Amino acid sequence: MKILTVVGNRPQFIKAAAVSGLLREHHEEVLVHTGQHYDDSLSEVFFSELGLARPDRELGIGGGSNTSQTARMLAALEPLLAVEQPDAALVYGDTNSTLAGALAAAQAQVPVVHVEAGMRSFERMMPEEVNRILSDHLSALLLCSSDLAAKNLNAESVTGRVEVVGDVMVDVAMRWAARAREDTSALATYDVEPGAYVLVTAHRAGNVDNAARLDMLVKLVRALPVPIIFPLHPRTRTRLQEYGLLDELDEIDGVTLTEPFGYFEFSTLLTHARAVVTDSGGVQKEAYLASVPCVTLRVSTEWVETVETGWNTLVDLDPPLALAALDRPRPAGHPQLYGDGHAAERCVEAIDALSAGGAR
Ligand code: UDP
Repeated sequence: MKILTVVGNRPQFIKAAAVSGLLREHHEEVLVHTGQHYDDSLSEVFFSELGLARPDRELGIGGGSNTSQTARMLAALEPLLAVEQPDAALVYGDTNSTLAGALAAAQAQVPVVHVEAGMRSFERMMPEEVNRILSDHLSALLLCSSDLAAKNLNAESVTGRVEVVGDVMVDVAMRWAARAREDTSALATYDVEPGAYVLVTAHRAGNVDNAARLDMLVKLVRALPVPIIFPLHPRTRTRLQEYGLLDELDEIDGVTLTEPFGYFEFSTLLTHARAVVTDSGGVQKEAYLASVPCVTLRVSTEWVETVETGWNTLVDLDPPLALAALDRPRPAGHPQLYGDGHAAERCVEAIDALSAGGAR
């Protein structure tokens, strides 16, 4: 089959890195980079580190509102689908690139395969939640990270075929886990000791696009124990500058602000952290895998199992709650929540079966 894969942002490059190589053993893949993340630190580094094939097509569509960005992606994908005539389209996660890929393909009557289907935070205010729900209902094959995701889809009566395959980001994390444990050079670079620093990431629209919320985030960071390493997502850096908060954050003693890390450096810093404080979906999952306690700067999460097992605590932007979460004892149990590191193989098998059944 010819598969047209649409990716556009950091976590999607990581997820595609798990699947793309295997997929190409069986099928022809046309990799389309929408340009949603165009900054080298959010894009290029993942291709070079994780061996993801270079995009066959780059749409160069970044910036603007969610609606305008999605609309421009749709307009660019329609002619591309007409030229490429793929047998299926493959999308990952919950971004504008996911929805645009799924919608453009479904309108062109190309079956959509959605990896990481069925995740729900049940917060319709989140742009990602809207993207997830719509993409799932457009998909012919829905590949889930967990049983709970499949349950969510069944509750919504999606029309596509639902399969639990495990999580492809877990595949990547497991592949590189030994390296993250053993290569501690990043700790030396930032002059921190294993288990004695906190790693912070934040970039969700709900936390950084509003001046009052961003001010709360800065106050929360000020309340946390140092040393802190905080790689700034370009969106967060821009907002901090716009709202006049960057200097205040930068001047907090013991807080090191950095550019976004590449995958390897980030995994090392995550693996050896005392705790991770984040609003990222992927980072909550990776912290769990590395058995590092996670404090999540949101009121809900789609990675519910990490909270239920006691490894993740939802604190929104409340400093006392965050401090209490950091002091929680580590849970005794650590069940395998999102698969065994072989999700990509199951994704490709499910796609093979799609072709056996006649994709179109
Ligand atoms: N990540 C990274 N460098 C960083 C911060 C995060 O490589 O400085 C990786 C992290 O390991 C995870 C992914 O980026 O795999 C998460 O992406 P992000 O937080 O942008 O998106 P989300 O998962 O929230 O959609």
